[in-house]
Amino acid sequence: MDLNDKKLEDLFKIADKVGKRRYHKLTQQDFEDYRQFDRWRYVNGDSECGTTPESKQWVKDNSERLCPICGYRFSDRDGRTIDHKLPRAQYPWLSLEFKNFWVICRICNQEKGEMHWYEYEHYIFVHHRDRYDEVRFARPTQLLRSLKQG
Ligand SMILES: [Zn+2]
Repeated sequence: MDLNDKKLEDLFKIADKVGKRRYHKLTQQDFEDYRQFDRWRYVNGDSECGTTPESKQWVKDNSERLCPICGYRFSDRDGRTIDHKLPRAQYPWLSLEFKNFWVICRICNQEKGEMHWYEYEHYIFVHHRDRYDEVRFARPTQLLRSLKQG
């Protein structure tokens, strides 16, 4: 299991540390991006929840018929949602970073909650081992590296 990979663990730790430091220096733009996402996100095609034509199109272009985590059809799992791989609550400046987005079903999104990615991989490994490969595959490695450099 490559979660025991020391280098990987270090990468997450550094990214987390850099993230925390950055968090204390949030800019006006960061807050605007954070709020902007509320108007942009896609939840069940429900415009009251913030769907815009652009976000609807983006979701369409970036998802298949099945949720990449659980493998069920979106229609059987409360529909599609845009999730931030690195949670927006912890990384507000990544609110509108497309590399940080993926389309997952609403049920998986709720289960993921505000978990940090590293924590989430552990969670999936323990609770849904059959889904681990998919989650591992979606790991935002580049984004974590860019955090480290920032
Ligand atoms: Zn799912």
